[in-house]
Amino acid sequence: MPVPISQMWTVSKYVLTQRWRGRKRYPLVLMLEPLFRCNLACAGCGKIQYPAHILKKQLTPEECFAAVEECGAPMVSIPGGEPLLHPQIKEIVEGLVARRKYIYLCTNALLLKEKIDLFTPSKYLTFSVHMDGQREHHDFAVCREGTYDRAIEGMREALSRGFRVTTNTTLFDGADPASVREFFDEMMKLGVEGMMLSPGYSYEKAPDQSHFLARDSTRSLFRRILSNRDRSWKFNQSPLFLEFLMGRQEYACTPWGMPTYNIFGWQKPCYLLQDGYADSFEGLMRETAWEKYGTESGNPKCANCMVHSGYEASAVNDTFGSLGGFLRTVRATLLGGTYRDDGARRELETTARSRPGGGQAVVPLTVTAAARQETERVA
Ligand code: SF4
Repeated sequence: MPVPISQMWTVSKYVLTQRWRGRKRYPLVLMLEPLFRCNLACAGCGKIQYPAHILKKQLTPEECFAAVEECGAPMVSIPGGEPLLHPQIKEIVEGLVARRKYIYLCTNALLLKEKIDLFTPSKYLTFSVHMDGQREHHDFAVCREGTYDRAIEGMREALSRGFRVTTNTTLFDGADPASVREFFDEMMKLGVEGMMLSPGYSYEKAPDQSHFLARDSTRSLFRRILSNRDRSWKFNQSPLFLEFLMGRQEYACTPWGMPTYNIFGWQKPCYLLQDGYADSFEGLMRETAWEKYGTESGNPKCANCMVHSGYEASAVNDTFGSLGGFLRTVRATLLGGTYRDDGARRELETTARSRPGGGQAVVPLTVTAAARQETERVA
C-alpha cells in the first residue's frame, strides 16, 4: 500500500464531505511555494528565472500557516525553489504537522543529509525527492553531475531514520521509456514508499523550449512506460491519473484542485500559469475566470498540458464521483493492475533497440552553462 491508511481515510473523508456539501470547486492539495531560490538550475524549470531581488524573498512561517488555514486542503505540497534553503523550514514543517496536514516536502535532496536533524519522522511528513531518472538521465536533466548520487545518499539517510520518502519525476520529450522502467526498479529496491510522475509543462520562461511533450507524445510515452508494469512498482498518486497519462481516461482540468500560494499571493489560475494574483483564497476562487482554462477551453497555453497539478484532482474527483471510477480505483489500488498491452511492449522493445547505450539525454547541454550562471548569480 503506497499511502498510509490514515492519509487515505483523511483524504476520502474530506472529498466526500465537500461533495456532500455540494461544493463544486474545492482544493485537494495546496501548492505552497515558500521561496523560488534554488541550488540547481534545471533547463526545464520555470521557477528560477526571476530577478535576484525576487529570488531573495521568502514567505514567513506565519504567512504559510495563514494560507494553509485559509485554503483548508488536507495535503500541502511544498515545492519551490528548494525548500531546504528556507532558513525557517523547520518551523514551517513543525507548524503544518501540528495542524495535521499531510506534507510533501519537494526537494532535490542535495541538502537532505545535512539538514535531516531539523526534522522528526511523522506520518504527516514525506520527503518527495526530485529524481528525473537513472543517474545519467537525472544529472543531465538537472544540468549538474553528481546530483543523482547525492540525492540517493540523502534518501538513504532519511529512510534509515524512519522518514517517509517518495520520488517525483518529470519526463520530457526524448525520455527513454526502458531506462525509466529500470529507474522504477532502482527506486523500489532503495525502499521508497512510492513514486510520482508528471509530464513536463512548457513553461514560457524555461531555458530549454525544445523538449516539452505534446499530448499525443505524452500518452505514447506513458503507455510504453506504464503498461506491462512490474507488480512491485508503487505510485504515490491516483491510479486514474496514471491511466489518464496513458490515454486510458479523459479528464477536464480542475486547476482549483491544487491552488498555489507564493510570495506574490494566490496565483491565477494554477501552479503553471501566472495570469495575476488574488489577495485571498476566497478571492482566487471567486475572481478567476476558470472557463478560460484547461485544454478543452481552447486556451493555447493549456493546449498540451497534462500535468498532475491540473489533472490529478480531476482523477480523484472521478474516483469519488462515479461508481465506475470508484471500482476502477479500487481494482488498480488493491489488485495492482499490470495493464497488459502487447502493442506497448513491442513499441518499448523497438524504442530500446533504437537507443543503444541507454537512450538520449533529454536536455541540450548548451543550456546548462547559462542556467547555472543564473543560479550562481543569485545564490
Ligand atoms: S490545463 Fe490546467 S493546469 Fe494546465 S496550464 Fe491550463 S489551467 Fe494550468
